[in-house]
Amino acid sequence: MYENRQQYEAIVRKEVVFREWAEGHRIEHGDPGECPNCGMPGQYDIHGLGFPPDVDNSIYYSTVFNEWRCRICDYRRIH
Ligand SMILES: [Zn+2]
Repeated sequence: MYENRQQYEAIVRKEVVFREWAEGHRIEHGDPGECPNCGMPGQYDIHGLGFPPDVDNSIYYSTVFNEWRCRICDYRRIH
């Protein structure tokens, strides 16, 4: 699925609200959390920009899989 940056940000803003409901607290870019898909700890990448290499794992919303996942999911090909 192709989307431009504005469309991606609109999707992520909506999905962040759903995650906030699920977790019961606000989520900001860079906040620590657990990947909703695999449970590994990471940091929320809400802007879709990635993090510097010193961040071990980033949690982001994938419009390919239509779910929250993380770099470890990608590496292990967890779906
Ligand atoms: Zn994961």
